[in-house]
Amino acid sequence: MIQGLYKEIVLDHYRRPRNRGELGNADLEESLNNPLCGDEVTIYANLRDGRLDEVAFTGRGCSISQASASMLAEHLAGKSHEEAGREIEAFLEMMRTEEREDLGDLVALKGVVQTPNRIRCATLAWDAFKRGLEGKANA
Ligand code: ZN
Repeated sequence: MIQGLYKEIVLDHYRRPRNRGELGNADLEESLNNPLCGDEVTIYANLRDGRLDEVAFTGRGCSISQASASMLAEHLAGKSHEEAGREIEAFLEMMRTEEREDLGDLVALKGVVQTPNRIRCATLAWDAFKRGLEGKANA
């Protein structure tokens, strides 16, 4: 039952992606690909007063990779640099270990990843965003 619900949440983001599209002159832009599956994701964000004002993505690949990017865009918009960093770490930790109810619908991604080699599909956008934030911190 719950497995079906997880699948539905992920497919909904895949079919109707949130914040899909390129942001011109974005403060933060980072691309990563996953050669194992052929996924490509680029994340974009603008910072205003220390917050992520706009978060968007482009890419192509499997439903998990693209749905995950859409969920990232939805979750991180409006967050501060620190909050986004914490949320990314919590998500990556969950994908490596066990489900965390406090992460809301992100748990669906954990739920649909059935084999270790699909974890990379789910973490691709998050790893890209993490790298982008780190680049910003050092700038
Ligand atoms: Zn994939």
